[in-house]
Amino acid sequence: MALFGIFGKEKKESLDNGLQKTRESVFSRLSRAIIGKSKVDDDVLDKLEEALILSDVGVETTLKIIERIEKRVQRDKYVGVDELNSILRDEIVQMLNEKKKDDFDKISETSTHVILVVGVNGVGKTTTIGKLAYRFKNSGKSVVIGAADTFRAAAVDQLKVWAERAGVDIVEKGMNADPASVAYETASYAKNKGYQVAIIDTAGRLHNKVNLMNELGKIKKVIQKVFPDANIEVLLVLDASTGQNAFEQAKQFTAVTDVNALALTKLDGTAKGGVVIGISDRFNIPVKYIGIGEQIDDIQVFDSTEFVDSLFKK
Ligand code: GDP
Ligand code: MG
Repeated sequence: MALFGIFGKEKKESLDNGLQKTRESVFSRLSRAIIGKSKVDDDVLDKLEEALILSDVGVETTLKIIERIEKRVQRDKYVGVDELNSILRDEIVQMLNEKKKDDFDKISETSTHVILVVGVNGVGKTTTIGKLAYRFKNSGKSVVIGAADTFRAAAVDQLKVWAERAGVDIVEKGMNADPASVAYETASYAKNKGYQVAIIDTAGRLHNKVNLMNELGKIKKVIQKVFPDANIEVLLVLDASTGQNAFEQAKQFTAVTDVNALALTKLDGTAKGGVVIGISDRFNIPVKYIGIGEQIDDIQVFDSTEFVDSLFKK
């Protein structure tokens, strides 16, 4: 069953708008790469490589893309620079589609689907939770959110505001409450009431990896006490506007905890959207959601083909 009932056109338009800054920056770099050229040669490929790296695609993924384009140029003998855009789009789409795809739209029909949201401060966890709660609710699911980021004063209140906006239930025990006990209560509440989705906010204090790992481990354990057979989805939120930093955070978090899915936020305000291509390519964890604004409906299920199409749209 499809979760997000957004109409295709509307979805495309907001994606196009969200990626505008990245698109403009990629285009200006590409145009510079082909200035005065008619065919794709080594010089163009060098400049293309530089353009992709500067667009935050990441070095390894860029080299993969360049290799694919090189092969294509060898095969086709002559490739005009006017084709470069569509060739890039095709090769990146193919590269990303070679990866195994998750069935994003499925959630458990028999038990509560528990999503544990992790990530460092300020990346957009709470906002993403609000957006997701709203989406799940709109698709007919019953939703409760749990305020297990008890570290900062404003965190619980902020989540309350989002619960109200989304029209979903919230379990909270105020600031400084033990995060694991909030998670336990949220899970129990969801179970007792037969809620279909429970989303739990956490404080992502990456500066102390041992603590973070212990805390997340504890939270998972108490949820598993309530739902022994449930798969807990650990959703790592990353701020795309931090470019290569988002990459580093993904590396660090996946090293200390089992992350199942990624959400990349703030694509609307940045020219660094190329990082989504690099992260999709480099991690075996699917990019599941993208955030393209601060409003409650500014979230989309990530589709690599749509994303790349939108990015290279003239
Ligand atoms: P948290 O500390 O990880 O919970 O992050 P918050 O959810 O509090 O978000 C931090 C800031 O990022 C807030 O000002 C949000 O409005 C903003 N934000 C979150 N997601 C997006 C997004 O997709 N686009 C934009 N432009 N801003 C976002
Ligand atoms: Mg927060």
